[in-house]
Amino acid sequence: MYRSEAESARQARQSMLDTFTERKALYDSVSAVTGIPWFNLAAVDQYERTLSLAHPKTRPLRDGLVAIHLTEYRWVGFLNPNHQDTNLRSIRFFDGFGRDGDGDGKADRNNDADVLYSMADFLLRYGTSPADFDIGIWEYYQNDRSVKRIKQFAKIYSLFGTLDLHRHAFILPLGGDYSYRSTWGAARSYGGYRIHEGTDLFAHYGMPVRSAAYGVVEVMGWNRYGGWRVGIRDLNNVYHYYAHLSGFNKKIKEGDVVQPGDVVGWVGSSGYGKPGTQGKFPPHLHYGLYRDNGLTEWSFDPYPHLRKWEREERNRKRSGK
Ligand SMILES: [Zn+2]
Repeated sequence: MYRSEAESARQARQSMLDTFTERKALYDSVSAVTGIPWFNLAAVDQYERTLSLAHPKTRPLRDGLVAIHLTEYRWVGFLNPNHQDTNLRSIRFFDGFGRDGDGDGKADRNNDADVLYSMADFLLRYGTSPADFDIGIWEYYQNDRSVKRIKQFAKIYSLFGTLDLHRHAFILPLGGDYSYRSTWGAARSYGGYRIHEGTDLFAHYGMPVRSAAYGVVEVMGWNRYGGWRVGIRDLNNVYHYYAHLSGFNKKIKEGDVVQPGDVVGWVGSSGYGKPGTQGKFPPHLHYGLYRDNGLTEWSFDPYPHLRKWEREERNRKRSGK
């Protein structure tokens, strides 16, 4: 049983790596033609993927390497009577979005290269400088939040130079003296009735708190409930919230990129009052996860993910990887 589980995990990992290799090659080829850096194309595509995962009914995940979601109407042009049109001239005539990225003379909505190139072609209308790219994505999404996310993703991709950035670490040192259980939805008393959106991990003061994922530090500072807290945005458009810290890692600041296992701060009991308040409850790490759906964020239960990441990291250690 254990062996087959390990084997299927290995196969899943390999097929994911193959997908990343193919996808990266596609970004590189469209980047070579358009001059748009591959990590900007990767960031837009990944942002689109997270929106499809958040809205599976209204925008199903595209079947292919690229997740950029374009409706038929948008592709061929709203007034185009032929909803399956692949003719470059008529699509242009109807002001459709579709372009030809692979050089076969057709704009095919089911072709990955055509879809990615069409997006790049749209962005190129605003120019090729970094500032022009910001304008292009703003024009496309008409939303500051989308621009911010895409720039965060691009920063992570450009720093690491790969798409293979979905490994997780457990958020406390493995084997440390900590305990946690599922506390999702429990009532709590301070600040009026709010359900408990997260998992509490009990540990002693000063235990290192580690980033679970590759991501960008979005927030670092005081919050009335959370005390000293850190918020990190990952490539799945999930916000990781670490609260009640005794202090932060001074080498990290807002806007920095972190990787799994990086120490962001230390367990404490800060919060529930003015800046600096601590000791109103036993030391613990409050950990929350929030998914961004493009307009708003909602929390989901971290507990099963924590168990999984803890197990995965233990297995990696055991196998010496
Ligand atoms: Zn909590």
